[in-house]
Amino acid sequence: MSLLSVRSLSVRFPVLRSWWRARALFVHAVDDVSFELAAGETVGLVGESGCGKTTLGRAVVRLIEPTAGAIEFGGIDLASLRPGQLRPVRRRLQMIFQDPYGSLNPCLTVEQIIGEALDIHGLARTREALRARVGFLLDHVGLAPADARRYPREFSGGQRQRIGIARALAAEPQLIVCDEPVSALDVSVQAQIVNLLHDLQREHGLAYLFIAHDLALIEHLSRRILVMYLGRVVEAGDTKMICRTPAHPYTQALISAVPRLDPVANRRRIVLTGEVPSPITPPSGCGFHPRCPIAEPRCGREVPALREIASGRWAACHLAWGGNRMATTGGVV
Ligand code: SF4
Repeated sequence: MSLLSVRSLSVRFPVLRSWWRARALFVHAVDDVSFELAAGETVGLVGESGCGKTTLGRAVVRLIEPTAGAIEFGGIDLASLRPGQLRPVRRRLQMIFQDPYGSLNPCLTVEQIIGEALDIHGLARTREALRARVGFLLDHVGLAPADARRYPREFSGGQRQRIGIARALAAEPQLIVCDEPVSALDVSVQAQIVNLLHDLQREHGLAYLFIAHDLALIEHLSRRILVMYLGRVVEAGDTKMICRTPAHPYTQALISAVPRLDPVANRRRIVLTGEVPSPITPPSGCGFHPRCPIAEPRCGREVPALREIASGRWAACHLAWGGNRMATTGGVV
């Protein structure tokens, strides 16, 4: 059974209406996205900046209210829960943020930051128990228990991200949404944080929804991958298969940009022209058609369904090979 089941999820944000604009406009940040995630699994979510990855991650943990669709976590429909009912579920559903500088309150000590999660969820009954738990968590993520008395400004970026990880772990989660947790860090520190997340997953059986724009990182971390473009999933399936033989032209362009040490594996670089279209006025038909090197006339008219093109592989492209076309858009992957 899946730990997380996301079905036909959409998130739209209203754009301010002007006196000269008759109809209200919306940013279509996430459009009809479906996927499943099992306990202990890592699913990678990749795409360019602004493609809706972070909005999707935030909607999954209910930091953003979805406009439509369903999110089931451990068999519970999150949308049906009132704030008081949501709290015990949210404890098992945590997030690590991209910015280790902005995501920690500079006015609080590390103990207060991590202890807040313990307090909220009633996981430490006494002051001593809270202190001992914070010390344990800091040690667990590679910091010293004595660091509990210090402030975030006294730490490097990598150390701050370790504090963010300790804060997420404090609630004893089953699933952590990792929103580009290493993209703001020095390259030398990135591997340490990735290894830490990997070790914690093995030790605690954590599931990760790992958001990144770095395909090489996702390839290393996750067995399954979702590729997003303009708010929609355009390709999904086994990471190794997709990285070896990408089916969607957008995935092909992304993968062609990943440097390879193996000269045999080197591919011709596909350089996309033009800008990512505005999510306020997305193109008709396939959202990728203004930039697609192999677009044909019907691509501008018909929205391609996300269909299974081979066993366990899904693509939203009229020209992707083989498979059974799905009857509806947004198939579950
Ligand atoms: Fe390109 Fe058409 Fe496929 Fe869209 S549907 S990716 S425009 S070929």
